[in-house]
Amino acid sequence: NQDFNIEKIRQDFPILSQQVYGKPLAYLDNAATTQKPRSVLDAITDYYTTTNSNIHRGTHALSEKASGAYETARKTVRHFLNADQPEEIIFTSGTTASINLVAGSFTDKFVSPGDEIIISQMEHHSNLVPWQILCKKTGAILKTIPLQDSSALSLNAIEELISDKTKLIAVTYVSNVLGTTNPIKRIVDLAHSHGKPVLVDAAQAVQHMPVDVHELDCDFLAFSGHKIYAGTGIGVLYAKSKWLESIPPWKGGGGMINSVSIRKTFYADPPLKFEAGTPNIAGAISLAAAIDYIQSIGIEKIAAHEAEVLNYMHDKLSSLPGLTIYGSKSNRHGAISFNLEDVDNYDAGLILDKMGVAVRTGTHCAEPLMQHYGITGTIRASIGMYNTKEEVDRLYEGLKKVQAMLQLT
Ligand code: PMP
Repeated sequence: NQDFNIEKIRQDFPILSQQVYGKPLAYLDNAATTQKPRSVLDAITDYYTTTNSNIHRGTHALSEKASGAYETARKTVRHFLNADQPEEIIFTSGTTASINLVAGSFTDKFVSPGDEIIISQMEHHSNLVPWQILCKKTGAILKTIPLQDSSALSLNAIEELISDKTKLIAVTYVSNVLGTTNPIKRIVDLAHSHGKPVLVDAAQAVQHMPVDVHELDCDFLAFSGHKIYAGTGIGVLYAKSKWLESIPPWKGGGGMINSVSIRKTFYADPPLKFEAGTPNIAGAISLAAAIDYIQSIGIEKIAAHEAEVLNYMHDKLSSLPGLTIYGSKSNRHGAISFNLEDVDNYDAGLILDKMGVAVRTGTHCAEPLMQHYGITGTIRASIGMYNTKEEVDRLYEGLKKVQAMLQLT
């Protein structure tokens, strides 16, 4: 990949040059969280050094400056997602909070006993548990899209589940375990042809490929800043403007009101209606810096580089005897999950760690997916824009060592 200067990119991420246990760090746990480029670190320091103040309510210079930076960050996210209006971008603390916001706001107003919410077998717990809570409160029923052999969600399976009672379809764009990428545009079109709204969990999508909410036409889309090279504790809920007026606020407090008396409150217009309390101002600014960084490289170039590394990883891992990969090679982003015969995934992770290779092991907050495969966990290697084939080779060598140490044969 000629235009993609991987050495320069790696230098932009100071943490990557460190050693662990005397070995260079091969950070392959990017689906859990990504590292931060210098420009994001600088934006956070700069904010606290020059601007720190509360937003939207001060009359003084710093508050004006902080409010301006926060609202500029919202516009950056709006352009990044190609949302029609900045009001459609709500800052939250992360994907989990974004999904809980929708689930919490749907309670009472939209959902009655016997209504149905559709999710899939491959969801992260944060796109499952909020709907279980909603169903418990309202008497609604949770329906699950089963998995196919190819691992991507099938339109036929979804069509079979949609009924008059369906209130929302909430599905992941990219599986945090398998890397499988679902045909979200077609899922949205199908759902809309039945008049049903769709929430997209894009926590594992926005950092790996262009995501355009206008084109997808989804009703809601959630992602986390920390998985896209920004700080922790900041996330986004995109909500189509038609929903913003109709769904009630989820949390009450300062910053989300127009006027308040003891008896009644008039809410502020969206998006502030959904941003009660002092938000993560530095986080929003870090997210804008991360998006600027991504755009300075180009998301398509990042996607092309990552596809090369991920395909290489797939082929390399496939060549190891006794290694099972879950999910299919095609249409995969970010992550590969696998197991080694006769080896506990956690033990493998510990040995890899001692070799400087950071992976994640266990259920990855996706226990229903583990139940589908009848396994207790996997080893997951997940990449970001800065990973290299050389690091994949180190994973491969590490796994050979794990096999030599732990396998009976
Ligand atoms: N959905 C998916 C697909 C994820 O991968 C994650 C994070 N692992 C989440 C939701 C939750 O994100 P957060 O913990 O940042 O709220």
